[in-house]
Amino acid sequence: MPWCEECSKYLTPSSMSADGSCPKCGAVIEEPSDGTESETTPWHFKLLVVALIAYLSWRIIAIFV
Ligand SMILES: [Zn+2]
Repeated sequence: MPWCEECSKYLTPSSMSADGSCPKCGAVIEEPSDGTESETTPWHFKLLVVALIAYLSWRIIAIFV
C-alpha cells in the first residue's frame, strides 16, 4: 500500500497521481514494498526457521525416547 509521509496516510494506487506522487501535497510516495527487498527473505530469518524446525524435531523425538 502506498504511504504518503507528508499526509501520514495510505493512498490507494488509483488515488495517486499519474507520476506516482501524492495528489494532495505532491510528495513522492514512499513505497514500503518495492518488490526487490520484500521478495528476498533475509538469510538470518531462514536460519531462524531452520533452527526452530530442528529444535521442534528434537523436542518431538525427545518425547518418544
Ligand atoms: Zn500527501
